[in-house]
Amino acid sequence: MLDRIFKIKKSLEPTTHALQVGSRAVPLLMVHHPRARRYLLRLRSDGTVRVTIPRRGTISAAKDFAARNVGWLEQQFQRLSTRAKTPAIWNPGTEILFRGELVRIVSDADGSIRFGAERIKVSDASAGLRPFIQKHLHQLAAQELPPRVLELAALHEVTVSRISVRNQKSRWGSCSRRGTISLNWRLIQSPGFVRDYIILHELAHRRQMNHSEKFWQEVARLCPDYQKARLWVKQNAELLQ
Ligand SMILES: [Zn+2]
Repeated sequence: MLDRIFKIKKSLEPTTHALQVGSRAVPLLMVHHPRARRYLLRLRSDGTVRVTIPRRGTISAAKDFAARNVGWLEQQFQRLSTRAKTPAIWNPGTEILFRGELVRIVSDADGSIRFGAERIKVSDASAGLRPFIQKHLHQLAAQELPPRVLELAALHEVTVSRISVRNQKSRWGSCSRRGTISLNWRLIQSPGFVRDYIILHELAHRRQMNHSEKFWQEVARLCPDYQKARLWVKQNAELLQ
């Protein structure tokens, strides 16, 4: 009996394959779904594709299904990258990236605005909401990122002398020789796995102050999923502009 339960559980575990879509090798996350009636594809915000496999479906049929829909996937990638380009002026209704998800800015009757689980008071929205929201995002980042750095530094036994959360224009993070880790507040807009990758990347610089092969080996050790995060960073480069 135990053995059977184990087997069922195991078959439900998602497994990862890859599919070539244009110039990119896209990770396919295969997920068995007993209630699904047909094969389904979904492009997720992290750049991976989820393939839902119906009852009695197989991995190889799922792979064929994904391969037949490469054109559609290419279109979805295009949409994802244009949607990520948020307009310069943020108004109610504008979608912004927050914790890796696109969330819509909603204005309330009492003059406050909401996005995701956040709510802020806005005094004068005549120049758009962007300054208010960015200030709020910066504050959130300053609260949340340093504890995460300390946590990951302790986990991997790396020392850090200072952590600052800044408004860098062209980089997600940096690490000085003295051990100061600087992080871009915009990391609060990225998914958790990207935030962690950037932090671990900077922590790896505490051991290798360069981008040598040894450095990347260290990154892979600290963050086995780093390729996925680098892909996200590449696809969302316009966030830094
Ligand atoms: Zn670096």
